[in-house]
Amino acid sequence: MTEEQKFLMKKAIDLSRSGMEAGKGGPFGCVIAKNGKIIGQGSNSVLETNDPTAHAEIVAIRDACRNLNSFQLEGCEIFASCEPCPMCLGAIYWARPSRVFFANTKKDAAIAGFDDDFIYGELELENEKRKIPFSQIMQEEAFKVFQDWIAKGNKILY
Ligand SMILES: [Zn+2]
Repeated sequence: MTEEQKFLMKKAIDLSRSGMEAGKGGPFGCVIAKNGKIIGQGSNSVLETNDPTAHAEIVAIRDACRNLNSFQLEGCEIFASCEPCPMCLGAIYWARPSRVFFANTKKDAAIAGFDDDFIYGELELENEKRKIPFSQIMQEEAFKVFQDWIAKGNKILY
């Protein structure tokens, strides 16, 4: 761990505390840096915004992408005060940063009463065995739109 990485993670942890103390949401913070410079940051804002997707990483990714005017975080490093949940893990893959650092683990989050570890467990289950059952219907109809997407010219891939 470099001094710079230590500084950036400390900032993410500070955001986890300040967000919690301000009543914004749970104790989670995130900083996104490019070439050592902070380009996005956020704390969990689920309670403040009534948005269940307003996790620190999502808030920080939106902030960084807005600042970079890009939907990709190429060459960026993410510092999260806790191991990302499956939603944030997915968002991180979509944003394509170069590296992720985390402090607390999903097991630590479970001790604090959060579902991260439980949701990771759900990923292993068959659709119908999940706590929220998932059922596939009307694939033929929906796939027609995919076919049109495949055939569509002049599209931006992401
Ligand atoms: Zn999350």
